[in-house]
Amino acid sequence: MCLSKGIAIGNAFILKEKEAPVLELTQNISLELEILDKGLDKALDDLKENLADEDRMSPEQKTIMETHLMLLEDPAFKDQVAALIKEFSYRCEYALYTGAGKLAEHFKAMDNAYFRERAADMMDLGWYVIEAITSKENPVVKDKIKSQQGLVGEDFGRVIVAKDLTPADTVKLNMSQVAAFITENGGPSSHTAIIARSMDIPALSVPDISKLLNQGELVIVDGFKGDIIIEPSLATLDAYRKKIEHHQSIKDKLTQYKECQAETLDGHRVKVTANIVAPQIAEKVMEVGADGIGLYRSEFLYMDRISPPDEEIQFQIYKEVAEMLTGKEVIVRTLDVGGDKHIDYLNIPHEDNPFLGFRAIRYCLGNTGIFKTQIRALLRASHFGKIRIMIPMIGTYEEWCQTKSIIENCKEELKGNQIPFDDNLKIGIMIEVPSAAMMSDILAKEVDFFSIGTNDLIAYTMAADRMNQKVAYLYSDTQPAVLRLIQMTIDNGHKAGIPVSMCGNSAANPDLIPVYLGMGLDKFSVNPSEVLGVKEQICSLKIEACRKISQKILSCKSAKSVKKVIDGMTISH
Ligand code: PEP
Ligand code: MG
Repeated sequence: MCLSKGIAIGNAFILKEKEAPVLELTQNISLELEILDKGLDKALDDLKENLADEDRMSPEQKTIMETHLMLLEDPAFKDQVAALIKEFSYRCEYALYTGAGKLAEHFKAMDNAYFRERAADMMDLGWYVIEAITSKENPVVKDKIKSQQGLVGEDFGRVIVAKDLTPADTVKLNMSQVAAFITENGGPSSHTAIIARSMDIPALSVPDISKLLNQGELVIVDGFKGDIIIEPSLATLDAYRKKIEHHQSIKDKLTQYKECQAETLDGHRVKVTANIVAPQIAEKVMEVGADGIGLYRSEFLYMDRISPPDEEIQFQIYKEVAEMLTGKEVIVRTLDVGGDKHIDYLNIPHEDNPFLGFRAIRYCLGNTGIFKTQIRALLRASHFGKIRIMIPMIGTYEEWCQTKSIIENCKEELKGNQIPFDDNLKIGIMIEVPSAAMMSDILAKEVDFFSIGTNDLIAYTMAADRMNQKVAYLYSDTQPAVLRLIQMTIDNGHKAGIPVSMCGNSAANPDLIPVYLGMGLDKFSVNPSEVLGVKEQICSLKIEACRKISQKILSCKSAKSVKKVIDGMTISH
């Protein structure tokens, strides 16, 4: 299944699930100590080598690596592991695993949040050195690649192959070396898909892929068709190189839309903003000339940690993004945990139906400490740029009232402490639960903007899981029920004088862009790699024709008839 479009050629890099080393004892302690020394040296060399290549990593990755280097150079780590070898005759691997675990427990018990967060780093260090000791290059595969005529010296990127890729896994990858992702699990709305699309990296989900591929094998990933080709012939490679060139030339042509506004041929202006999952993607948003950030999925900030980011950390990140956007708006969605976005340390008990459970604003209203920390950080950052706050999963008027009173409370606290913030900062809600769409006339009078989250709105309206292929025929943005709720939301927003945006995947669906324009949508928020294409399409349309089409579509009885109208539309110039 295609998760993110594009074509890439690269060497398979299979991320295996780590297995804890088994307890093995040694009779040769000095040999194990020697192995430890060599492993540490190699791990240090690898880290230094990676750090020397600093242009090829994100600031976040650099900080993580610098911390790892510092901890690995500290004799405390080696001493702990060496003591276990000497005292209990553990083999080096087991001593590393146990020693890192003990140090992690020690850090976890500390009062200081910074030190508590170092616990996860300790386990990483243990694994680094274990890998340095145990990793062997696969000479067969290496020779096979090298011997392929015409490929000698060619430097391919890595095709990351994994069961599933968590945001934590991706933070640790050197993304500049990543050519594509292939995962065994996950649908188009999964984390892997969201991350891949936001970074413009082709991605597929292919069951049992790790059994089909060997480490290092050359593979072509076609994210348009959903194909993978293992060990392609030179002729196939050439054909795909041409396809890549062709797609690149299309992309290059689109750059002419970077500076221009999204305006139809007959002068109807809308905004095209970008969705991001990490602060470093903000640079891409500027590169493609988006009108701002329409959705910053802030929950990714909470992942790959052992406790929530504190107010200062969040403030610095939001401030950095706001400043990078130089006056353009940055809509930060507050923590949307739950559903498929699991965060271990939040200890959300198991739920039979997590998508219908304690997620997003429901969780935040039940855990006001975490929520207030984020709101305070956002308010403080609003002093440095055009930050907007967006609340996910609002389903009732009461939820909104509770949320508003918490935000008011945070404002009072900041005022009391003379901490500056923008008192007029705009606060909006996502319309992604059908009850909110049905109540949008009431809610529109309360908030500053709406943003329609089609990914969830489709699922909840159609009662069809967004990850379940068996009900994919119901999970569709062409379902008339979904389109009617969208029209209702736009109309009610406009009656109250507030703008209505869309930030779900459907905002970039070329079939529906004319329909949404005709319905009156004010803003399309899409992945950075989609911004230019969406602008190009809007600039080729006429609003009057779009309005006619959308009226026709709203009277359709079925998704099939909607599709028929779309297929027959001739509305560009
Ligand atoms: C949505 O539901 O459309 C949305 C943008 O939110 P997410 O995909 O993060 O749930
Ligand atoms: Mg959603």
